[in-house]
Formats: sequence, C-alpha cells, structure tokens
Amino acid sequence: MKYLFLLFTVAVSLSVTHVPKRAMWGFFGHKKINRISIFTLPNEMFGFYKEHIEYITEHAVDPDKRRYAVDGEAPCHYIDLDHYYQKGEDPYKKMPKTWKAAVEKYTEDTLQAYGIVPWHIQRMKYRLQKAFERKNIDLILKYSADIGHYIGDAHVPLHTTENYNGKMTNQVGIHGLWESRLVEVNSDNYDYFVGKAGYVDNVLDFAWTAVKGSHNALDSVFRMEIESTEEIPSNLKYSYERRGNVTAKVYSKEFCDLYHSKMNGMVERRIKRAVLSTGSIWYTAWVDAGQPDLRELQFTKPSDELIQELQALDDAYHHGLHKGRICD
Ligand SMILES: [Zn+2]
Ligand SMILES: [Zn+2]
Repeated sequence: MKYLFLLFTVAVSLSVTHVPKRAMWGFFGHKKINRISIFTLPNEMFGFYKEHIEYITEHAVDPDKRRYAVDGEAPCHYIDLDHYYQKGEDPYKKMPKTWKAAVEKYTEDTLQAYGIVPWHIQRMKYRLQKAFERKNIDLILKYSADIGHYIGDAHVPLHTTENYNGKMTNQVGIHGLWESRLVEVNSDNYDYFVGKAGYVDNVLDFAWTAVKGSHNALDSVFRMEIESTEEIPSNLKYSYERRGNVTAKVYSKEFCDLYHSKMNGMVERRIKRAVLSTGSIWYTAWVDAGQPDLRELQFTKPSDELIQELQALDDAYHHGLHKGRICD
C-alpha cells in the first residue's frame, strides 16, 4: 500500500498543473477498494483477478473520467434521496425500489436529474454477467473495474444528498474531506480484513441497502463536522501542504483525527463494506453466468482496442470539461 501511495504521489506531482486536484484524492479510495476486493474472491476467480490486479486497480477511476467524455454518466454515481421526501417521511416509502416503478412515479428525466446509482449497479451487474457468459475478457475487466467504482460511490453518504458538498449548510469541502482526505490520512491504519465474498440473491435490494446505509449516516457526517469545527481552534482546522509545484490548503491532520474519532471510524467501515460488496457482486455475476472457467482467460491481455479506448477517455479527462456533477 505504501508503494501504491508513493506512485500515486508521484503521479499527482507530475500532473498537478492540469488535473483537478480533488478528483485525484477521491481516486485513491476507489483504487484501494477495487484492489482489495480481489482478495475476497474464491479460488476459481482469484487467479484471474490477481493476474489483472493492476488493470482492476488503475481503471477503478474510469467512471469518474467518463464524466468528462460522456453525457449522462454523472447521475450514475449518486442519488439525491433527500430531493424526494420531507423531514419525518420515510424515503423508502416515497421512492419505489424498481426502475420501472420509479420512472412511472417521477419520470425518467427527474431520476436522471437527481441520480440513479442503485439501478445503475443492477444494470452493471447484468452487463458483467453477460461478459462472463461470452468469456469476453475486455468486457469482464472493464465492467469489473467499473462496478467497483459505482459500489464504492453508493457507500459514500454524501453521494445520497443534494447537499453533497455542504453548500446548503456552510460546510463546503466536506465531500473531499469525507471521501478523500480522511482516507488519505488514515488508510494505512485501516484493517482490511473483510472476509469472503458471498452470493447476492437480489442485487437491487443489495444496492438499496448500500444506499440506505449511506443515507442513514448523513446526519452524523454533517453534525460531527460542525462539532469538530466548534471544538478545534479556528487556526488549526486547515493546514498547508506542498503538492508538486503548488501549495494546497487542506484540512489539518488534527481536524481529520478529531472528525474521524467522532464518527467512530465510519469511513473505514464504509470502505470495508464497499470492498466486500464489490467482491460479492463480481462473484454473483460469475455464478449467474454459469461459473465459466476463468483459467483459460487468465493470461490473456486486454485488447489493443480497449487500451486505445481507455487512452481516449484519459485524454478527455485531462483536457475536457466535466459534464454534470463531479465530487467537488
Ligand atoms: Zn464516482
Ligand atoms: Zn464523491
């Protein structure tokens, strides 16, 4: 992990002039989730995924890059549940579970406007299953990496609210604080033992459970940031760090430690849950595809076409403007 972090730091230093800084920090957590998820897999899958561990790790962030290249990508990463209910109401009574019923009640335009992550996870699992059925190595790799990303996003409380970066409550920056800065400061101390991937009977229910867990944690996420701010002397909330050739204002280590301890390790718990969930959805897609023998594919490399496609995506990310919401 240390090595990974070093590589990552070098990458940031080299590219800091034209890469949105905050997005890079979020990348760190996504890569970690995808990488560690591989170790939850049963033997029949582990060899294949281990062989492609660098691909699965590096491309954990493709869906965020796709926000710069593809219209309609952004809503796949979140759902603003609080748009749909008033205080005191049960969000899960208001929002139908299935896509069809939700479209009937709210229209597709509205759902796209406020995010579709639980349904997108279900759709991606189906695509991965089809890729396994066809033994299409490019698509197995691509969808595996992608699905880890969306599952990761569904486990972030701030991906379930219109107030995703604290603008409405004078807490701007909280998004990067929660999902990037806290991970960056603490992730070497996390215990990544999460157990083995399991079969998921109902993928849509499973995705909704992730979203509910995130949404239920929102009150604490906002309240404890306020408490931490009140408790720490105002000149200690932020510090300055040199990143490549720029100096960046960041939440201080002291502030992060205080917030982390108030939340009783919530970020670590959500990351671990995302890891186990990612492994479980990969495993479920493979089982539902009839458990194809992956040893035949183990040493096959992704095609040149796929590599070129992903290079184009990376170019769009570095040189384009994002379409729709990003984590900032
Ligand atoms: Zn995302
Ligand atoms: Zn985010």
